[in-house]
Amino acid sequence: MNNVYYGKLIFELSKPGRRGYSLPKNEFDGYSLEQLPVARRENKTLLPEVDELTVARHYTNMSNNNFGVDTGFYPLGSCTMKYNPKVNEELAALQGFNIHPSTPDCAAQGALKLYDEVQRTLAEISGLSRFTLNPYAGAHGELTGLMVIGTYHRQRGDVNRTKIIVPDSAHGTNPASAAVAGFQIVQVKSTAQGTVDVEDLKPLLGPDIAGMMMTNPNTLGLFETQIPEIARLVHECGGLMYYDGANLNPMLGVCRPGDMGFDVMHINLHKTFSTPHGGGGPGSGPVGVRAGLEHCLPNPQVVYNEEKGRYEQHFDEESLGSVSGFLGNFGVIIRAYAYLLTLGRENVPMAGRLSVLNANYIKERLRSHYKLPIDVVCKHEFVFDGLREEYGGDHHDAEHVTTLDVAKRLLDYGYHAPTIYFPLLFHEALMIEPTETESKDTLDAFIDVMIRIAEEAKSDPKMVKSAPHNTPIRRLDDVKAVKEPKFTFKAL
Ligand SMILES: *Cc1c(COP(=O)(O)O)cnc(C)c1O
Repeated sequence: MNNVYYGKLIFELSKPGRRGYSLPKNEFDGYSLEQLPVARRENKTLLPEVDELTVARHYTNMSNNNFGVDTGFYPLGSCTMKYNPKVNEELAALQGFNIHPSTPDCAAQGALKLYDEVQRTLAEISGLSRFTLNPYAGAHGELTGLMVIGTYHRQRGDVNRTKIIVPDSAHGTNPASAAVAGFQIVQVKSTAQGTVDVEDLKPLLGPDIAGMMMTNPNTLGLFETQIPEIARLVHECGGLMYYDGANLNPMLGVCRPGDMGFDVMHINLHKTFSTPHGGGGPGSGPVGVRAGLEHCLPNPQVVYNEEKGRYEQHFDEESLGSVSGFLGNFGVIIRAYAYLLTLGRENVPMAGRLSVLNANYIKERLRSHYKLPIDVVCKHEFVFDGLREEYGGDHHDAEHVTTLDVAKRLLDYGYHAPTIYFPLLFHEALMIEPTETESKDTLDAFIDVMIRIAEEAKSDPKMVKSAPHNTPIRRLDDVKAVKEPKFTFKAL
């Protein structure tokens, strides 16, 4: 790219004396900061000196280096990256919602009403009794939900339940949240079919089990068919069932965690109900509970006071306490509300079904080129285990094209790579979730590129192994980036 601004740090564009502003002439003759030594800095500020046009070009060029759902297809598995309709942004920016978090309830009735309607809609979608929208992200929701479970046992004087069961296919946040909530983690294995192994679960159950976390569809995109039996076993031993609903897409309007026997769950608004969340953007991890656990939810709780005919923030003494400063990331909640209203009750199930159809379409069209370790109808996502043998997938020499190479080559064709080497159940995992928002044309174009890469792996493996070739930066040394990160610009 022949562009002097391209790939440079703003400090590298700096020229002594360059300015992007001019201050008015000092009209207070005789007075200046020079007379106030304590107000003067001792060292030169380390700021770039650039004109306005350079700043504009620098940041515009940088934004062009970003990849997002708004620039191209982003088939990341385990983390729904669906399109965020622009009307959501407009509604979230409405002046009336731009209120201070300490606004008294009487002056925030509209915002509280919206908040409560999202709580009620999520309860209806999930078949649970009550939701809180306080948590700021999925992992924060998990922590909150696990605190609900801990509070429930403690309030009943059942204090020896110190362990949480987590499947080996779980998202890494599950064991992490359980540990932060003060529980020990007990891992339960998956069967060769990729679902929780009930026989492995049975001996783990006992009076020390506080609960079990399950993700459904699980991280392999499979529906956990043994849930009724698992829920019965866990409840029988006195534990509660936790549902990780970060990616609730395929379940929408089809089946409900509450009906399956789950007691507590979280939902990621920033995955299932739009909101862009690349790069760790703002999130929201609402937590729902079945009837009888509502009092454990965190404070403040937004409730409708029938007597007074208004919404208020309620502080329950039996609550687990507070998990956030105020009521959560309100902007994300508005976007979810807008998303739900634009779809409407009658169309929400369509989103789920299309996400399943799209995933199965890609899987079926690519299975003659990529290894499909678990051959069933998937839900919103699925996992390949590298290339098939005839495309070099089983060789173990230096020319062997790996999942990493395929992912790097996809960048050359303008696609974001899928999730790779996760879940850990397969050596060459390549995990694809197209979401319901992509058209058949986009899916077909992606499939063609994936097939092309498989052919290249056979005809020109060296080229695939040295990809990407067309990106501003070529293949990075991932290990060095982790072991020797550079956070500062040394040339100053
Ligand atoms: C994304 C995800 C989480 C964590 O959500 P964050 O908002 O990133 O904290 C938890 N579980 C599953 C299955 C997920 O996909």
